[in-house]
Amino acid sequence: MVLLQGTIVAQALKNDLKAIVDSILLENKRAPNLAAILVGDNGASKTYVSNKIKACKEVGFQSTIINLDENVDQSILINQIEKLNNNSAIDGILVQLPLPKQINEQDIVKSINPSKDVDGFHPLNTGKLLTGNPDFIPATPFGILLMLSHYNIETSGKKVVVIGRSNIVGRPISILLSQLGQNGNATVTVCHSKTNNIEQLCLEADIVIAAVGIPNFVKGNMIKNGAVVIDVGITRVPDNSKKLGYSIKGDVAFDEVFEKCSYITPVPGGVGLTTIAALLKNTLHAYYMNQGI
Ligand code: NAP
Repeated sequence: MVLLQGTIVAQALKNDLKAIVDSILLENKRAPNLAAILVGDNGASKTYVSNKIKACKEVGFQSTIINLDENVDQSILINQIEKLNNNSAIDGILVQLPLPKQINEQDIVKSINPSKDVDGFHPLNTGKLLTGNPDFIPATPFGILLMLSHYNIETSGKKVVVIGRSNIVGRPISILLSQLGQNGNATVTVCHSKTNNIEQLCLEADIVIAAVGIPNFVKGNMIKNGAVVIDVGITRVPDNSKKLGYSIKGDVAFDEVFEKCSYITPVPGGVGLTTIAALLKNTLHAYYMNQGI
């Protein structure tokens, strides 16, 4: 069994990005600039945003965090996004999800200029992805592709089961893996809460991607020998033995699965890290697009 190490993949990508930023700065141009909007006080969201900003600093990107109150009116949030849309010094805009209930996520996603939409959630970018011509691949599916590429894991002709059909993970990764081309050409089955016989479908899969949000959902008896297992899940589980009072659990029962599979991502230390590296790649792409390069 080989551990698919997000640390190694992300570091290699960040080294490449840092070299590119260094060469941009040598030409006396400004560095790419990511703006992150954080609404409210959700602990997990704060951690995600601060990890993204930290990664920006590591590669030499500029970054801006805008903190808004939990009770903020939707119109104020949209106004803030419009200011960033019109600011030529900002290349990428992300609004950390989930948002408080008074705010309609789709309205917010649609208000971001598609050429600054580094999360790739705008309907225009979704359409481009669907037709095989993406500007921005949503960061988590992109991170999974980068992980598979780094370890030379073949997808062509393979049977893939994706568990989860969300717009940010399950749906886009299933589309990408079934498309024509590198990292594609797989035969993909998408499972969700209404799927019957998930165990049997997983047992037939060469690659299982779990994006459910239920710890230990994928058990050892669901994985065939030699399969590749990608665990996207991140759930905070109360744990008094930890300083923070919780531990992070993936969707896969790692101890049961790791002996059977050929490759597996750990949680933490897997897809979460490549997701951040993918976001940085998207930000650089937005920088080039917005500079007309
Ligand atoms: P989500 O929007 O809640 O979607 C979960 C999906 O799992 C849904 O499609 C749901 O089916 C399906 N599901 C729920 N219970 C099921 C069951 N019993 N059997 C089969 N399918 C079931 O979650 P998400 O945003 O995609 O995130 C999934 C997990 O990935 C979460 O733990 C999240 O924290 C994590 N995540 C990690 C990263 C990262 O960087 N590593 C990024 C994003 C998300 P229905 O559609 O039928 O409801």
